[in-house]
Amino acid sequence: SAFEYAPAPESRSVVDIAPNYGLFIDGEFVEAADGKVFKTVSPATEEVLSEIAQAGTEDVDRAVKAARKAFEKWSALPGSERAKYLFRIARIIQERSRELAVLETLDNGKPIKETRDADLPLVAAHFFYYAGWADKLDHAGYGANPKPLGVAGQVIPWNFPLLMLAWKIAPALATGNTVVLKPAETTPLTALFFADICRQAGLPKGVVNILPGYGETGAALVAHPDVNKVAFTGSTAVGKAIARSIAGTDKKVTLELGGKGANIVFDDAPIDQAVEGIVNGIFFNQGQVCCAGSRLLVQESIQDELLDSLKRRLSTLRLGDPLDKNTDIGAINSSEQLARITSLVEQGEAEGAERWTAACDIPEAGYWFAPTLFTNVTQAHTVARDEIFGPVLSVLTFRTPDEAVAKANNSQYGLSAGIWSEKGSRILAVANKLRAGVVWANTFNKFDPTSPFGGYKESGFGREGGRHGLEAYLDV
Ligand code: NAD
Repeated sequence: SAFEYAPAPESRSVVDIAPNYGLFIDGEFVEAADGKVFKTVSPATEEVLSEIAQAGTEDVDRAVKAARKAFEKWSALPGSERAKYLFRIARIIQERSRELAVLETLDNGKPIKETRDADLPLVAAHFFYYAGWADKLDHAGYGANPKPLGVAGQVIPWNFPLLMLAWKIAPALATGNTVVLKPAETTPLTALFFADICRQAGLPKGVVNILPGYGETGAALVAHPDVNKVAFTGSTAVGKAIARSIAGTDKKVTLELGGKGANIVFDDAPIDQAVEGIVNGIFFNQGQVCCAGSRLLVQESIQDELLDSLKRRLSTLRLGDPLDKNTDIGAINSSEQLARITSLVEQGEAEGAERWTAACDIPEAGYWFAPTLFTNVTQAHTVARDEIFGPVLSVLTFRTPDEAVAKANNSQYGLSAGIWSEKGSRILAVANKLRAGVVWANTFNKFDPTSPFGGYKESGFGREGGRHGLEAYLDV
């Protein structure tokens, strides 16, 4: 190969790997130019897990230069060669998935059941899926010689740290781009572990660079003049700031932002199945999910029956140690996020919505919020409009399908929705009227690398996943 391969490091345990990571630039872990570090803590215990190098402007420049240099050769490799690296990365992720699941749970606070059974299998699936595209781009309807864009500056949030990385890095690499990625400040560990996997896979130096840091690091990355493509997942406010900051440049951009998903339950829905779907829709990952079903729209005639079953089910959820494989509800990711959830819930009460909270023993240390429902909610209530990004469900009612559609669409967001009904014709008719990037029927929060994902309205623009996700990294 034209590349100098980094030597594969010997395998290390999570305990060895957590402490004191550097930035990953040009195939090496290095200190920040100004020597700055920050700490990442366990949200479940508030213990410091690790001290991490914090990237500044100079480091952003170093990383972008490394990515630019690597782009020359990476983009010139045949797709079949790039595919081999992606397949290798996917296999190593599978082999090291237990370490990764534990590390993700430690850093993020989500139950190990979820990292083990949802996050990690999906992460590997995305690398396998996009590996499969790398050698087919010329012949799959993209026109002759689609060209990669160059250096991608990618900024991701803390709710699915490794999965968001996979959504961003796998299609970028498959299409011949190189990457500088900034993980969220509260969850940098699995991205750095992933850097280690890139070395183990022999990925050429500079193709992937990882720069932990805060918002300023992200802002410096997206503003760097030699970044050609910006991919951001996070809050709508920061997404808008990024769009403003790069307006007038030639950078391409995709934004995956917030949501306020409507989960619509019709009177003919199988109630037990719907209850499971509602629980999964809003309490998966403590509700810190952009496409969470955070608004329940229930047909008036079944409201009482459905809410009774839902409350009974919520009372059985186990909140506590995220590393315990029986835990259903883990910790909230940070004290800031907990404060935000608490304040929105207090606002809901002050505005007159009726609050019900499941009885749970809350651990003394760490950041926790018990599963909560709001009833007597109207469209005007803040809890029906604002994204809470926590384990809080706002319940509204409707009488007719048209009213359900009108209420579901009455939102600044348009990322996800769900429909529960036995009637296929009703599901199709309603789904077609919903202004949401994904509509699930008789299920919720199902993901697949072959499906494009993204938002209408203020939930963002562009798509990730599927072949649409490739186009975001190509000039066709
Ligand atoms: P956030 O916008 O505060 O942070 C996201 C990332 O952006 C972090 O890495 C942060 O350091 C960085 N950042 C902050 N300010 C920046 C700036 N000015 N320039 C560049 N980067 C900056 O969001 P969050 O609190 O980390 O995540 C929660 C939000 O993300 C929710 O609104 C959620 O809906 C959204 N989200 C969306 C999707 C999706 O696919 N649509 C997926 C996950 C999360």
